[in-house]
Amino acid sequence: MPKTSHRPHVAIVGAGFSGFQAAQSLAASGEFEITLLDRDGRHVFTPLIYQVATGILRPDDITVSPRSHLPRGARVLAETVRRVNFDRHCLETDSEAIPYDYLVLATGSKSRIIDIPGARDHALPFMTLEDAIVVRQRFAELLTDETLGRVPSVAIVGGGTTGCELAGSLAEWAKLLDRELRIHLLQSGDRLLSEFDAKPARAAQRRLQRLGVEVLLETRVQRVMQHAVLVDRGRPIAADIVVWTAGVAAAVPQVSAKSVIGETGKLRVRPTLQLNSNWSNSTESARNGRPSDSRFENVFAIGDVAIDGARPRPAVAPVALQQGVAVARNIYRHARGQPLKPFRYLDKGRLAIVGGYLGVGRIAGVPFSGPLAWFLWLAVHWVYLPGWGNRRAALLAWWRTYGLGARSRRPLPRSQSISSSITPQP
Ligand SMILES: Cc1cc2nc3c(=O)[nH]c(=O)nc-3n(C[C@H](O)[C@H](O)[C@H](O)COP(=O)(O)OP(=O)(O)OC[C@H]3O[C@@H](n4cnc5c(N)ncnc54)[C@H](O)[C@@H]3O)c2cc1C
Repeated sequence: MPKTSHRPHVAIVGAGFSGFQAAQSLAASGEFEITLLDRDGRHVFTPLIYQVATGILRPDDITVSPRSHLPRGARVLAETVRRVNFDRHCLETDSEAIPYDYLVLATGSKSRIIDIPGARDHALPFMTLEDAIVVRQRFAELLTDETLGRVPSVAIVGGGTTGCELAGSLAEWAKLLDRELRIHLLQSGDRLLSEFDAKPARAAQRRLQRLGVEVLLETRVQRVMQHAVLVDRGRPIAADIVVWTAGVAAAVPQVSAKSVIGETGKLRVRPTLQLNSNWSNSTESARNGRPSDSRFENVFAIGDVAIDGARPRPAVAPVALQQGVAVARNIYRHARGQPLKPFRYLDKGRLAIVGGYLGVGRIAGVPFSGPLAWFLWLAVHWVYLPGWGNRRAALLAWWRTYGLGARSRRPLPRSQSISSSITPQP
């Protein structure tokens, strides 16, 4: 791809929280030529995909085309980056080689269902919008199947935020449709929501149990079969559908220097978010402001795919968003010959909801739960959801769901699964 202007060319791989934010922050100045590459060519608001899977929102409501949120000159390519060649300063996709002056790797995480016999064959991963659409089809089919002749059952593996939100919302969906459904929530640890304080986590567990969810703590899945999972000591748990929300791995494309990949499988970065090939001298190189290998001076990694070994951050959207802004600032500084600044994370807290009117959270170090946390969750997600059309759709869907107690009861029509509005354009 030939360069079309004299401005430095910034290639950003991944239009998720961090990459899309970096593209928007960089595009604002007009100082750079920007190419944003994403294998799907769209931005997905992942914290709401469980609402797609449980009949509250449509897939279109949580996706935007990055093209419509960036200035005209910025290119958005629906391409998978297969390999990064640091020596030749270029990205390799299936169709072309793309040279860069600056590179931002923001490829996020991928689902990791491993080691458990039968899991790959019989469990549904829950990570992407496509996963959520498949799960919704299967839930809707199960909830509307009149021929089963027994109580249907679902096992959700993983008692973190996603597993709890999914279990609560599914239980409410079954109640709205007046259907009996057994839901098991399987958690290997000794409590749910380990990322929250113990008290709100206990409130969430009580709520789930009131909704009829059977919470199994300290329970490890040993095998997944077609209609059951086997847990500790081979105890079978009936499950027509098994959804796997536990376990993620960094989605690193092939790179020409393996030394930048740390033991966790993530890309090692320095505090400035530049790639770091030499773990041991990261503190020294951070102090003198120079990267450990000059090939990585202009290469940055942000979001879930990156790890600063000295300060590991949680894999959450606020970190990704703040790193998107920070990387843009450091690229400006680098282009102007100014010293780069280390990334500092401002932790604004965490929120999750477990069905209608019960939220759990921690803000400014203070744990809390109840309707206020639920309302704050809706407000925060509404504000951060990109696109006015999506916000309007979410507001209507939440009014229908929580105000009127109504929800979709059907599998998605094929045409709605991935609509033309989010189909990537070349
Ligand atoms: C189900 C679920 C629920 C979550 N809920 C919450 C929540 O409630 N609150 C919260 O704070 N966080 C939540 N998270 C975590 C949050 O979504 C991530 O921390 C955040 O998305 C990370 O942003 P990112 O930019 O690193 O990656 P992502 O947002 O995942 O974006 C990565 C992008 O890179 C693209 N990509 C990957 N590989 C390639 C390639 N080789 N070539 C081209 N493109 C590629 C992908 O298509 C994707 O668009 C949730 C995550 C999941 C999966």
